This record gives sequence, C-alpha cells and structure tokens, in this order.
Amino acid sequence: MHRRAFLGLLAASSLSAMSNVKQEDNAVWLDQKQLSVFLSIQKKLELVKRAVGYGHFNILSFDDMLKTATRYSKIGQFTKEELAFIEEIFYADPSEHGFYGKRTMPTLTTNINKKEVMKIKHTGHYLFRGHSDESYNRVISDVGNSLILTSGVRGIPKQMNLYFNKIKRTQGNLTLASRSLAPPAYSYHSIGDFDIGKKGWGYKNFTVSFARTQEFWRLRQLSYISMRYTINNKDGVRFEPWHVKII
Ligand SMILES: [Zn+2]
Repeated sequence: MHRRAFLGLLAASSLSAMSNVKQEDNAVWLDQKQLSVFLSIQKKLELVKRAVGYGHFNILSFDDMLKTATRYSKIGQFTKEELAFIEEIFYADPSEHGFYGKRTMPTLTTNINKKEVMKIKHTGHYLFRGHSDESYNRVISDVGNSLILTSGVRGIPKQMNLYFNKIKRTQGNLTLASRSLAPPAYSYHSIGDFDIGKKGWGYKNFTVSFARTQEFWRLRQLSYISMRYTINNKDGVRFEPWHVKII
C-alpha cells in the first residue's frame, strides 16, 4: 500500500525512471505521511547541490546547507516538518531496516573541517590530508593512473543527498536503499574511506564489473588498503569492490 502511494506521488510530480524492485519480506518502507515531506527534502538537496556546485557540496556543512536553501528563493527555507523528518532519519537506529554499520557522525552539526581535507585534481572530490591522500597517491603509483578517485570525503548533506536519491529509486524502500548506501550518519566516507574506479568507466565503476578488472586484482594485493564491504559483510551492505578502507 505504501509503495503504491509513493508511486502515486512520484507520478504526480512527473518523476519516473523507476527501477524494478523486488518486494522483500520485512522491508521497511516510508509511510504515506512521510512521502511528500521526503520528496520535498530530496528536491531541495538537489537544488542546494546545484547552487553551491558539485565539488563544494561534498563537504558542505548542515548549517551551510540550510543557509543556502534560505538564501535562494527557488529553493526556500527548510520547513519545521522537513527538519523534523531529517532529524528522525539522522538519529534513528538503522538496524531496524537492516543496516548494522557504526555511526561515524554523532550529530547533525558535525562538520568536515576544511583545513583537514584537500581537493584532488580532476575529480571534484576531496580526501583527508595525511593517511587518506597518502594512501590514494600510493595506490595510483602502485596500480597505475588508469585508476581515479570516484568519491572521497562526504559531509552530512552529501551523504543525505545520495541516500535520499537511493530511497527515491527504490520507491521508498529503506531496507533496500540501506543495502547500497549508508544512512547519513553512518558513512565511512565521512572519516577516511574513499571509492576508486577506472577512468572513463562512469557508473560501471559502481557495479560488480569493477571486481573483474585487472586494476581490482592489483588493489587486492596491496597491504595498506582493504575492502570495506566484502561479500556478506556484517554491516548488511552489498558487495562494494570499489570502496577502499585504509589500514
Ligand atoms: Zn564508498
């Protein structure tokens, strides 16, 4: 019933391109009351991203996101209802919908310190100075420059943007969305992990095809990095061969 209501709302706002989603038993869905407020937030996050620029949005703080929305009349201030929904999602325990990873961002106002990160040329992404950027450079020199950073540091609005877009694509299924994207407070991208892929591969870098590349096999031989989300990992996240954990 929730799924139908959600699809109805999407149709009403002329949004389509839905993927085929298998209905899982015990899956948690957004309820009917939450749907319109969810869609409104999802849209605002997209507009804020456009307003501040894709690169900068990666490390934008929650407060700066709110300020940007208020400043642009096309976006508009976040309403009390929207803020309450965001808080609910942020502080909820996601193990209820199948995500068992650890919390990496304690509060909504936990920020990425701009002094601690650096922009990586030609990628639009950032890495933490020190351990992360040194490991990345080592990977490139050991495996070769056919590899590139595909996602680095993510602040709370960025992770929320990715998570909400995924919920939309799964037609409101929080369980399914949380299998492929950590909820906003739970991303290891906020504390040092990053994604790498093959140059020119685009979206394919975020599929199991990446595990069949020569680059991937060379990555597996490096002692200073490992894979965060292996097959059947305890966090409940799908297999992600592209997601690098630093040792
Ligand atoms: Zn990742």
